[in-house]
Amino acid sequence: MNGNASPILNRKREIQTEGAGVVYEGKNLTSLLLRQSETLSDEERIFLVECYTHYGGDFFEKNTSDNKIIPFAAHVLIDLECDVDFWREKHNFYVKRNQAIKDLLESIFATMSDFQCESVTLTENFAVLLATNTCIGCFSSGDVDLSADISERGKIVDWFRSFNFLSNDPPQSIREYSGQSMQFFNPDSIDGGFWINVIWKPVTRAFLVQDKYDVRLSKDRLLARTLGKSSIRILDDTSLLYFCALHISAGHYFTLTPGLRLFVDIDRLARSPRIDWDNIVKWELEDNAGIRISMMMYLVAKVFNTPIPEKVYSKALQSRRNRRFARYLLNRNTNEVQSNSSRLRRLYVELASDDKNLMTNFLIRFLRLVMSRI
Ligand SMILES: [Zn+2]
Repeated sequence: MNGNASPILNRKREIQTEGAGVVYEGKNLTSLLLRQSETLSDEERIFLVECYTHYGGDFFEKNTSDNKIIPFAAHVLIDLECDVDFWREKHNFYVKRNQAIKDLLESIFATMSDFQCESVTLTENFAVLLATNTCIGCFSSGDVDLSADISERGKIVDWFRSFNFLSNDPPQSIREYSGQSMQFFNPDSIDGGFWINVIWKPVTRAFLVQDKYDVRLSKDRLLARTLGKSSIRILDDTSLLYFCALHISAGHYFTLTPGLRLFVDIDRLARSPRIDWDNIVKWELEDNAGIRISMMMYLVAKVFNTPIPEKVYSKALQSRRNRRFARYLLNRNTNEVQSNSSRLRRLYVELASDDKNLMTNFLIRFLRLVMSRI
């Protein structure tokens, strides 16, 4: 963008770029730019405006583009009256695009019963956007995710074909298809092609025992709701929150790419008045999910200042081992989340997320020792 060139050089040492974002004077900028502007405190608003004035629009444009958070940041910056015309143009692009995505989903779901499908529900971030009725512009993924029962895959293939969404897999191989998800693409849809993913498992990941999650999701999918006159099916808010948290903790190891952008879903849903927090606590226990849900809630409560009841995440901080894990995932001083990844780190996250036992305690100590030396 033009104008507003910033005197970056003399303050450069104050910027620390991480995979998860930028820390400026001890605070994480990315998490602030991902917030709903009405939830920002006066202090946070002043801090952002100061930072914007100091660094200028070019810096913010590059940073938000690198972190793929343009529409969210644009929304906040419009509200803070920073280069309003520039950011409104950016934001409007996403409003139009995302409205087209919603219209597409509307027309697809309207014909669901013609193909005798019963389980298909929209899930993850676009589902959260619609369920919470938040700004349609604030979504920047290149695809949407649906959840469905694998027994319906043949019908789903026919259904999507009627909208020219075709899977990579040739039809004759679908019967043998044993993956956890299928991707459908229409090259003429939404400005140069659009992907719809259909996911058969609660989390697409090998070697994760997820039978209990599977049973719960199958049951909840059949009870999914539609919004107003819409045909789009979405899990009820509590179930959507639970499975989004599980997806981030088990599928993305809490903080790995796309990092903080995933936290947005939890923040928006947690602010819904329809969340049954007792069920969130109960389901984590019933499904032997360890601290995957509670730790996720803790991270979002701290990074986004989301009003999540403490009873929902107290389990994540209950033992010394859990508190060390929390400190590994989140630097409370800067509000930065851990964005490094390696097999060893993922194994540590996996073990630390599980319920406590002596063997894993021993392994975790060993892993931490090795990690501290590489
Ligand atoms: Zn917006």
